[in-house]
Amino acid sequence: MPSNGQSTFNAMTTSSTPNTQPPAPDCDVLVVGGGPAGSTISALLAEKGWKVTLLEKEHHPRFHIGESLLPLNLPILQRLGVLDQVAAIGMKKPGADFSSNLEVSGHHRFDFSFALDKNHPYAYEVRRSEFDNLLLRNSAAKGTQVLEGVRVTGVEFPQDAHPVAHAVDEQGNTRSWTCRYFIDASGRDTLLARHFNLKQKNRHHASAAIFGHFLNVERREGEYAGNISVYWFEHGWFWMIPLKDGSMSVGAVCRPEYLKLRRNSPAEYLLQTIAIGHPEMQHRMRNAQLVNSEARATGNYSYTSSRMRGDRHIMVGDAYAFVDPVFSSGVMMGMSSGVFGADAVDAWLRGAPDTEAKFAHFEKMADRGVKTFSWFIWRFNSPGMRSLMLHPGNPFRVQEAVISMLAGDVFRDIGARSRFWLFKFFYYMFSLQHLKSSYVLWRKRVRNTRVAFTGGTQPVDAAQEGQA
Ligand SMILES: Cc1cc2nc3c(=O)[nH]c(=O)nc-3n(C[C@H](O)[C@H](O)[C@H](O)COP(=O)(O)OP(=O)(O)OC[C@H]3O[C@@H](n4cnc5c(N)ncnc54)[C@H](O)[C@@H]3O)c2cc1C
Repeated sequence: MPSNGQSTFNAMTTSSTPNTQPPAPDCDVLVVGGGPAGSTISALLAEKGWKVTLLEKEHHPRFHIGESLLPLNLPILQRLGVLDQVAAIGMKKPGADFSSNLEVSGHHRFDFSFALDKNHPYAYEVRRSEFDNLLLRNSAAKGTQVLEGVRVTGVEFPQDAHPVAHAVDEQGNTRSWTCRYFIDASGRDTLLARHFNLKQKNRHHASAAIFGHFLNVERREGEYAGNISVYWFEHGWFWMIPLKDGSMSVGAVCRPEYLKLRRNSPAEYLLQTIAIGHPEMQHRMRNAQLVNSEARATGNYSYTSSRMRGDRHIMVGDAYAFVDPVFSSGVMMGMSSGVFGADAVDAWLRGAPDTEAKFAHFEKMADRGVKTFSWFIWRFNSPGMRSLMLHPGNPFRVQEAVISMLAGDVFRDIGARSRFWLFKFFYYMFSLQHLKSSYVLWRKRVRNTRVAFTGGTQPVDAAQEGQA
């Protein structure tokens, strides 16, 4: 059975053994990273009785951006046994609304209750420091040995010995762990993708973000107070995510060529950007105060890795791929890959005959999530998509299907995928109507991509969010 609780760093130092047998590994599974993906996969494997150790370089609760969840997160939270705790810290999110100040006026609300499957009508907005902490403590309670303040600095996968992870703690003490199976859940630090040189930046999609928390921002009325609002503007788009403590997370995701112009602090630039943003948003923020006068900036260039699985290792969550925050898919995709990954790693540890099939399923599902959201994300700013989103209809239940997918219902087949083809057809028809502006946007994107990949923006490729 797995060991529980915390151990001190030095007390766990492995002693060499004179035995000719290869020494037993320190644990069955070593997980690097205690974000949503790492906490999910470690909890599920510990629950199955494996000896799991998780190394996290920070101490939770720690800041992380990404506060808006999707409805299909909730079944995973239920399976982990934390749904009530998340409901207690979260703000109910029945949907999203989108507004544009470019060629179309007004905003359109998408309610998750309109999805094909009516059983997942809402999600939650959460402060990530609380949410991630809760998930990590839950994993520890299920038996994962959680060590915080321990940064993994290197890995080895010797042919004739167990995988080894080398780490350093905050006092500079170094130590190595051996394991039967290694899981990279290091998020955008992409430990293994960097180690094996697998990281492939997306050359067609580059953007970066500045964000902060504000008080005194007007919310949507009544039952929609928890909705995320998205506003298009000339340089990209804004999010407004209401949190339970009354504050509002506000961020701008912009093209690098715009952020390249920044000469002042992220806080000043964020306020300056809001001032040229959307009129309705400005109205909602007329009395707003930036909490602690503090804003952060991050590069969020899209990337995937050329593989998510190799010799005794997998990558889950952002450690494999990060697309873009616009549809709030990151946490749901990270946790889902943790669920599929746990199934496969458990089969491998047991030597089960269906191990290969389970890994193939894990890879297929993780890729499907990334590809489905990428399709929407890469077209999000296009005139065709804006028109379609702001004037939706529901022929052949296409809108229900799209809402299902944007609720995170991308892994099952409930009739959404076939209707998605129809939605694509409508999209191309709308784009033809906006041929000239689509071309202008395409030109901008090509220019923007060149700027992004020849360097020059302030927050280029930050592995984690940097503070002002
Ligand atoms: C601007 C922006 C806005 C976003 N908004 C949303 C949103 O609204 N909704 C949403 O769902 N997603 C959003 N996302 C994406 C979301 O934050 C991520 O997809 C999600 O956090 C991925 O979870 P993860 O567990 O894979 O990685 P992470 O949450 O990043 O966790 C990785 C963990 O690994 C630790 N770690 C890293 N390297 C090491 C190491 N060497 N040793 C030990 N520990 C290590 C880190 O400290 C971290 O705790 C947003 C992202 C950005 C950039």
